[in-house]
Amino acid sequence: MRRIVIALITALALPLAMAAPAQAGGLDDVFAKLLVKQVKGTNVNKHLQALQAIATANGGNRAAGTSGYDASRDYVADKLRKAGYRVTLNPINFVESWSENTPPTLALTAPNAKTYVPNEDFFSFQPSPSGDVTAQVQGVDLTLPPAPAPSSTSGCEAADFAGFVAGRIALIQRGTCPFVTKVQNAAAAGATGIIVFNEGQPGRTDAYALDIGEWRAGIPMVFADFAVGNELASTAGATVHLKVDANLVLGTDENVIAESRFGDPRNVVMVGAHLDSVPEGPGINDNGSGTAAILEIAEEMARYPVKNKVRFAFWAAEEIGLLGSDQYVAGLSQEQRDRIRVYLNFDMVASPNYAYKLYDGDDSDNVGSPAGPPGSAEIEKQLEAFYGSRNLPTVGTDFDGRSDYGPFIAVGIPAGGIFTGAEGIKTDEEAALFGGTAGVAYDVCYHQACDTITNVNATALDVDSDAIADSVARYAFNLRSIPPRTAARSAAAALATES
Ligand SMILES: [Zn+2]
Repeated sequence: MRRIVIALITALALPLAMAAPAQAGGLDDVFAKLLVKQVKGTNVNKHLQALQAIATANGGNRAAGTSGYDASRDYVADKLRKAGYRVTLNPINFVESWSENTPPTLALTAPNAKTYVPNEDFFSFQPSPSGDVTAQVQGVDLTLPPAPAPSSTSGCEAADFAGFVAGRIALIQRGTCPFVTKVQNAAAAGATGIIVFNEGQPGRTDAYALDIGEWRAGIPMVFADFAVGNELASTAGATVHLKVDANLVLGTDENVIAESRFGDPRNVVMVGAHLDSVPEGPGINDNGSGTAAILEIAEEMARYPVKNKVRFAFWAAEEIGLLGSDQYVAGLSQEQRDRIRVYLNFDMVASPNYAYKLYDGDDSDNVGSPAGPPGSAEIEKQLEAFYGSRNLPTVGTDFDGRSDYGPFIAVGIPAGGIFTGAEGIKTDEEAALFGGTAGVAYDVCYHQACDTITNVNATALDVDSDAIADSVARYAFNLRSIPPRTAARSAAAALATES
């Protein structure tokens, strides 16, 4: 085994090293040209056909929690293992079903007794697990009285829980970040129960039933109106009885993670695409296209002794809330996150009425979300340079985090990627740049049964596969344009202090 590896290093590293001095760009440039040549649209298309066959054999889709997803996972994992990768199946949870047996309980037990009215003063958070706890309440970074919305950042940062006493019930105010983030931080801080209350401004005072979509904490949690939260916050030493009686059924899917045999594990180039489809169809453009492209690239580069570790991710359950990538990132230590120098995301790269859109990592378009973490602008520039080298135009697409790069940029990892458009309408300007039809969606079959093998543009698939190969190959040897993570993290911390 070892002899084979050494033979490979000798066979492959030498020609690369010998070719290097002649090239202005060095090994990264040599390897990029080599990999782009090896990656073939016809091979990418074979993977697409396999994914279509899987969907056809499994009720027409490859959605989270279905046999079609499992078959997709097995197909990808098998190809990667055969290519020589170390493959891990990384389990993630999703909510299969949730129902409540009896109304929840929330009652003040000390210093005085008071019972709140279920499904009026407060509601169980869907999908709260069952739980029955009596403990002291501790407010978490509350803004009382409330300032104009959105102002409360209660529970949004792990640092909000710095003084939190494990075993208590976290009292959290609505505002700024997703409920899921608050819930997750509270659970991580050792809370035994969670009361989130409405923020308190006009129109934001009532309690109501809320589905946060995913399960992140094995403790009971309720959403209360502002009056309840305000009362508990202003009662010194408030102790409450909190009870939720529900049936929560969790399902499990697995991300497929494959890491190159070669490369420095302290410098990881991560490349991802979501593997699941929506239940409505086979998901061949969304996202068989990104899946097939990075799978072909992984296969073609498997035996090259790259300098940096390359890690491919095929995400589960993207379509039901980025669950695969989000839970993967949540499960990494700070040190593991710091090792991921770049994250490249490919979600829909062969839309039938395509435009070459690059995630606007530098916010040069000045649209929607701000720029990404330091390094994101450089990733966009590198991708842009590839299209430029073929005299192909690109346009920006808002860096809004609505695909699997979202959880990565949220923790300061620079990201970038390609997107050929979904249900949005192609403009006249884009039709002039890319051809196709103005006034029509980039993908008329987006999230529908007709997102089949005929719903991909072969040119876009081919060009984008090359663009991905080029970028992966360059970062596999050269991360000099990407700022060191410590710098990125202190920049993010500075931003956080400003707000
Ligand atoms: Zn997608």
